[in-house]
Amino acid sequence: MQFSRNDAHATIHPLRPRPYPARLSIVLPMYNEEAVLDLVRAELERFAAEIYAETEIVVVNDGSRDGTIIKLVAWAEQDPRVRVIHLSRNFGHQLAATAGLDYASGDAVVLIDGDLQDPLTVIHQMIERYCEGYDVAYGQRKSREGETRFKLATAWVFYRLMRMLVSRDLPLDTGDFRLISRECLDTLKRLRETHRFLRGMVTWVGLPQIAVQYERNPRAAGETKYSLMKMLLFAWTAAVSFSTLPLRFALTTGALVGLIAVEEAIRAFVAYFRGDTLPGWTSLMVVTAAIGSALLISVGIVGEYLGRIFDEAKGRPLYLIGLTMNVDPAVGKIPQVPQEAVSQIREDLRETEFEKRRASQDAEVCR
Ligand code: UDP
Ligand code: MG
Repeated sequence: MQFSRNDAHATIHPLRPRPYPARLSIVLPMYNEEAVLDLVRAELERFAAEIYAETEIVVVNDGSRDGTIIKLVAWAEQDPRVRVIHLSRNFGHQLAATAGLDYASGDAVVLIDGDLQDPLTVIHQMIERYCEGYDVAYGQRKSREGETRFKLATAWVFYRLMRMLVSRDLPLDTGDFRLISRECLDTLKRLRETHRFLRGMVTWVGLPQIAVQYERNPRAAGETKYSLMKMLLFAWTAAVSFSTLPLRFALTTGALVGLIAVEEAIRAFVAYFRGDTLPGWTSLMVVTAAIGSALLISVGIVGEYLGRIFDEAKGRPLYLIGLTMNVDPAVGKIPQVPQEAVSQIREDLRETEFEKRRASQDAEVCR
């Protein structure tokens, strides 16, 4: 038997080889991708013709404001392999991708950006890994042609920081481009948290995972939807959805500032006994400001978590669908706890309830 050994510290799994997937789903979230859609369509059609698996293309229109949906509808009308999920508004990349994954019906499912910056040919290598028994084959970027130095630098920091905050197993330089097995996807579909960081969630599921290295192309047309601000917000979501480290950060800052406060207090006492208390004004201001800011930071971080708990408590659906085309509604159902388990629990409850009632009736008769 083969074993997965991709990293010195990673869990080792036995690998169960699988047959070539009979059905492959390609999931693409799209937001304002009209400019690149014709190219994407041509490339996908070429790819579907050369691959052995039966292919379905699940495109999620994430509330685009341009002609994306018009082109998608025309495509789906001509090609029954194309499934369109038109969301009621813009829900963001991670939720759009979730919607696509929910409706994918393949044995193996590939999530890829709608601008096809990641080359489709890499999917062949991913399928090889899938057949070897890996549940996730994620694309790892060797280079990023055509990206600005600033984007490269921020991405570099982002991935290292995320590894510290989310999980040590989070692969570096890896986006959402990946192939996921049906088994892994069904587990992933049961995680319904509102603030999502899909990469982290896939890592959380575990199972054998492996990198497939590739060169990322520049965008063929259109422009990036991930501005610096969006990247920062995304990093923040990842950090606070997966770890309580920021909460501990609040505690450490508090402790540090506390130490400074003690030092300042001692200095103030010494100055008092020496009789020169007046010149302490500057240090007093510094300490007050430091303590104030530490308090505000701490309260802010607690507030962030509270806000997220509030969002989860509302239990709203993750996305709303305006319209679907060529979609089987049964596919999108979210797997729940197995029904047999639920009915067994109900059965047990009913039995104890019945026994209780009988006992009370017996007591009645005795009286
Ligand atoms: N996207 C989306 N909803 C959004 C923002 C982006 O569905 O609110 C899609 C977008 O259409 C693209 C993918 O997410 O297919 C990645 O976005 P982009 O290419 O702009 O990011 P970058 O590659 O520059 O990081
Ligand atoms: Mg892109």
